[in-house]
Amino acid sequence: MARSIPTFTGEVSGDDLGMTLIHEHIFVTDPELDVNMPHPEWDEQGMIERAVQSLIDLHERGVRTVVDLTVIGLGRDVRRVAQVAERVPVRIAAATGCYAAEVLPPFFRLNGPGLVVDGPDPLVELFIRDIEQGIGGTSVRAAMIKIASDVGGLTPDSQRVFAAAAEAHRRTGVPITTHSHAASRGGLAQQDALARLDVPLDRVVIGHSGDSTDLAYLRALADRGSFLGFDRFGMEHVGRDADRERMLLQLLDHGYADRIVLSHDAAVFSRITPPSWRAVHTPDWTMSHLFETVLPRLRAGGLDDATEHQLMVVNPRRVLTGGA
Ligand SMILES: [Zn+2]
Repeated sequence: MARSIPTFTGEVSGDDLGMTLIHEHIFVTDPELDVNMPHPEWDEQGMIERAVQSLIDLHERGVRTVVDLTVIGLGRDVRRVAQVAERVPVRIAAATGCYAAEVLPPFFRLNGPGLVVDGPDPLVELFIRDIEQGIGGTSVRAAMIKIASDVGGLTPDSQRVFAAAAEAHRRTGVPITTHSHAASRGGLAQQDALARLDVPLDRVVIGHSGDSTDLAYLRALADRGSFLGFDRFGMEHVGRDADRERMLLQLLDHGYADRIVLSHDAAVFSRITPPSWRAVHTPDWTMSHLFETVLPRLRAGGLDDATEHQLMVVNPRRVLTGGA
């Protein structure tokens, strides 16, 4: 089964996705702040050039597909990313969804069923249109649905986003990926909510699971069928790579090679943690860190070629296509 996946540069058959980074960001911005309080390190053309060079470098390392999980709440601008995508050999896939871990923006709080401006839920309209027609008036369609909850658990607003994502998944089959709070075992409540909404848990990635050092928690998530995102390698301000590598190898020893995906949650530019801050605090947090440092260390720790292929090629394909 090789259902095709939409990317910025056309449909790609599941068999051709190749080595895939399934949780990254090209540009994380804030359009309102960018107008009213421009960030001194943001230079649009310079950052587009930097993104092009990063992705050409990734292609030389064997990466063929990158999923950009920048959605509403993180400054998604697919026209800007398209300027990168058309110049690089790596394919970029876009996402729909809403990064609102606690409270939705005012528009969504007041527009929707039973709300002040009563009508269909604009979140559902947005997700379905992004998946079926294209994002923001372009023909770039979304390949994943990104949702979030954090240390506060599933708030009423995040439950609404989960419900909209579940409806979009049921209607389109596009997989769901989450931002979860690993330290409070937040992925379990996410699974509970999605299961109640009739989402098959094997079509869900519990993102940021790699931030947990609780083996029982990670096994519980995987035993319910979801994929675990070990997707923040290099993000040293929330966890240590040594812990992520240790937990990953333990999960592999317990037979979970078919439930894990690897990525960095890095960005070419993020207004939230700008390049000058990253240079000091997270110098390894780039999209090439797995290839430069982490995978060589995992190989030294016993990761064999077949398992590496499973983690980097087969599992992302299964997430994106729903295939075996
Ligand atoms: Zn992310």
